[in-house]
Amino acid sequence: MSEFDAIVVGAGPAGTSAASKMASSGLNVLLVERGDPPGSKSVSGGILWGRELSNLYPDWEKSAPLERFISNKVTGFLTEDSYVGIDFKTKKFEREKTGYSVLRTRLDGWMAKKAKEAGATVITGITVDGLAWEDKKVVGIRQADDTITSDVVVLAEGANPRVAIDEGLRAPISDKDVAIGIKQVVKLSEQTINERFNLRNGAGLAAEFSLGFLKNGVMAGGFLYTNKDTISAGVVIDIAGLRKDNKTYSFDIMDQFINHPYIAPYLENGQLQEYSAHLVCEGGINYVPKLYGNGYVIAGDSAGLSFSNGMVIQGMNYAIASGISAAKAAVKCKEKGHYGESDLAYYDELMQHSQAIEDMRKFKGITGVTWSPMIHEFLPKFAENVLHDMFYETGEPKKHLFEIAMENLIGSRYDKKKLLLESYRMMRKM
Ligand SMILES: Cc1cc2nc3c(=O)[nH]c(=O)nc-3n(C[C@H](O)[C@H](O)[C@H](O)COP(=O)(O)OP(=O)(O)OC[C@H]3O[C@@H](n4cnc5c(N)ncnc54)[C@H](O)[C@@H]3O)c2cc1C
Repeated sequence: MSEFDAIVVGAGPAGTSAASKMASSGLNVLLVERGDPPGSKSVSGGILWGRELSNLYPDWEKSAPLERFISNKVTGFLTEDSYVGIDFKTKKFEREKTGYSVLRTRLDGWMAKKAKEAGATVITGITVDGLAWEDKKVVGIRQADDTITSDVVVLAEGANPRVAIDEGLRAPISDKDVAIGIKQVVKLSEQTINERFNLRNGAGLAAEFSLGFLKNGVMAGGFLYTNKDTISAGVVIDIAGLRKDNKTYSFDIMDQFINHPYIAPYLENGQLQEYSAHLVCEGGINYVPKLYGNGYVIAGDSAGLSFSNGMVIQGMNYAIASGISAAKAAVKCKEKGHYGESDLAYYDELMQHSQAIEDMRKFKGITGVTWSPMIHEFLPKFAENVLHDMFYETGEPKKHLFEIAMENLIGSRYDKKKLLLESYRMMRKM
């Protein structure tokens, strides 16, 4: 007889959702988190998109530690001298509340508390070393010399899933599957943030930028998200390019972003509260492993369930959804009294029809666009030059926009065949 019905490894959104759902359905659950408190090891941008939490807690918008609802979405291009952006504001987001900025130190703590209230046992400050096996079935977890047994283990370790990899349950990570994320949380007063970003009544901004000022083929995106009285500012860097150019360091890219002439004023006189780094899952559908086996399931980032198209990163919502689905499968197994591979296949069945997997299938190969030199090198410079030439009054006869655009296109050193191919790919994949 096992000590627990289920053990969950990791108290991120995937793990806490799974633990909460299983415990509230009557399972005896242990949730193990290496950080103490939960959230202390977590990094996310972070905008919580979607409404997955309502499937766990109907009153989540009143009780969860949400910072601001997103009313303003910016997609921008930065060059050394310029900023070009699409600035989308809508009252519709105010009514729909489709995204909230969150701070993971607070959100993870709240979600772990909810799992505990639902009846799960939560232990923190413990790193799970591996799994315990018996007759080719996972029967629990190992930590130092101890084994704790359970009928099922939910692996929700995040983007660096050491246990799943070491136990041979998923492929190791390669450069193309992950990016490096670096993030700062900068303290400013609520009033200053409202004034600088032109925000009112709890509204917030989520902005993503392509960093067109980087050299030597290094590619990165930047983000600025407003919280109540802090700003989350960070970069997400393509590892392959960074590895090729061994003169650029990830922290330099972060410094260049926050000191950019059109970013720095937003953060001016702010006080640095947090500085963190983390892997970001970018591998897409091909990076998703088999989600279940004899006595275990894999959820959230550990299963590569994350989406990015350069204008938005989503992972927390997929993590919550997959945690809930993993829990549903475990509850069904408990009812049957059997947690074999074919029983846990129900988790896979749920996930194959989920938004997460459908999105990832549909946007297969999107990283070929998000990490293309066209987005990070050609477009920022091209947009800057065209707009500059359009608005710069020379006293000479004016040119049509088409003429200006063609001159800049022909004048650009960017390979035109490559540009055509990449543009076509962008239209198809975006
Ligand atoms: C810079 C950055 C920006 C991002 N921006 C966004 C965004 O704006 N919106 C969005 O939706 N997503 C965003 N993401 C992605 C999002 O953070 C992840 O998809 C999400 O956190 C995945 O949740 P998870 O529960 O699977 O994993 P995690 O949140 O990583 O949680 C895993 C937990 O497991 C614990 N753990 C790991 N190994 C062990 C072990 N062996 N024993 C015990 N505990 C262990 C960790 O300490 C951690 O608490 C961003 C990610 C990064 C890095």
